[in-house]
Amino acid sequence: MTTDDARHLLESIAQVGREHPSRPPLHEVEIFEPYFDSAGRVIQPDKRDGSCTRRELLLRYLLLNAVLDQGPDTEGVRLLLTRVTNDLYRREVRFLHRPEVFFENLGVAIDRITSVHEVVKNLRSQQWAQDNVTKAARYSLFMDGAHQALSYAVFRWGTPLAVPLLLTRDESDEAHRAEALHRYLVSWPSAEIASRQLKEHHRYGLGKAVGYKATHLYVKWVVHTFRLVEDDNPGWGPFGFEVPFDSNAGRVLFRTGFLLHWATMDDYKDWGVVNEEKGKGGTDYIRVTNIRSKKSALATSDPHLLDLYRRLCREQLQVAKGTPRKVEIQRIPSLLLLDGGRYTPGELDDGLMYIGTHFCFNHAAPLCPACPVEHLCRGRRERDLIEGYRT
Ligand code: SF4
Repeated sequence: MTTDDARHLLESIAQVGREHPSRPPLHEVEIFEPYFDSAGRVIQPDKRDGSCTRRELLLRYLLLNAVLDQGPDTEGVRLLLTRVTNDLYRREVRFLHRPEVFFENLGVAIDRITSVHEVVKNLRSQQWAQDNVTKAARYSLFMDGAHQALSYAVFRWGTPLAVPLLLTRDESDEAHRAEALHRYLVSWPSAEIASRQLKEHHRYGLGKAVGYKATHLYVKWVVHTFRLVEDDNPGWGPFGFEVPFDSNAGRVLFRTGFLLHWATMDDYKDWGVVNEEKGKGGTDYIRVTNIRSKKSALATSDPHLLDLYRRLCREQLQVAKGTPRKVEIQRIPSLLLLDGGRYTPGELDDGLMYIGTHFCFNHAAPLCPACPVEHLCRGRRERDLIEGYRT
């Protein structure tokens, strides 16, 4: 693979994403129905809906969605959240408008989460088991292998709801409370920095309730998918955040040979990205999150890419304090797309999600013949890249 091949591969995946965007089905949430036009665009985001603007309620819902969407089945999470939200609002538990009512009605919330989870399990578990070559009985959207609805509700639902709750309580100007989360987000110079602060901030950070992958997914929805921030600042533009590196993205980028173009297998082993014999059935396990902040000698040695990288860090991501000297691998996808000028990181992520969940399954027999990038994929020629590794 050459760097031009790598760019062509990414642009092909981004084209798939343009044709198959991944959107949480917000229009299926009953209170949001009037918010969208027939093309799925948000109408009048500034318009008030009770105590908040439409934009603010969407931002609160998506934050909850991002935190919940860290388990094995995105489709199931979307069903669960949509149905529980509709159910609670029909009971006048208006927890997005007033997050405190979630805690005041904790028993009701836990009952609804538990019963809807059973419905979703019945709907999704067979397909999920087939796709992942596992047992349907193992299906659970409660994370960390937990079986307790209380900890799931309080930790995974409660923490992201507490963010707008606390922001609202801390806001002295009553007129600003209708947009407390929105104002907080855009107080950061870029979506990238906001995504980090959502996890790390000493007062409002979600801490262990969320990973960086989920906070990047959140800002992708805000900036790219639903365009909830109108800002001339390039930090809140299409290149203002890094591509979320989840296991789907990692698997596709690894199998296609993209990651191995920028660093060697030994590098990935040294960094704990490839963990020998730690995967299912004695395969090597790829822990994609460990790529974060690792450097590519190849990209760093290319003067054009290094110059572009410095501009990306300074002008879009706005993360550079001085002059970056080495190119970080997780930013290379944005770098190549910026260079090409035809696609965005959001489209690339949509394409990675689509390929990862429809073709490039996490087992030894993905649907390669039907995959839209099979003609560009190194794993098609070197089967070990598929058979020897799991994410
Ligand atoms: S061709 Fe096969 S291994 Fe390559 S990305 Fe597509 S499904 Fe995955």
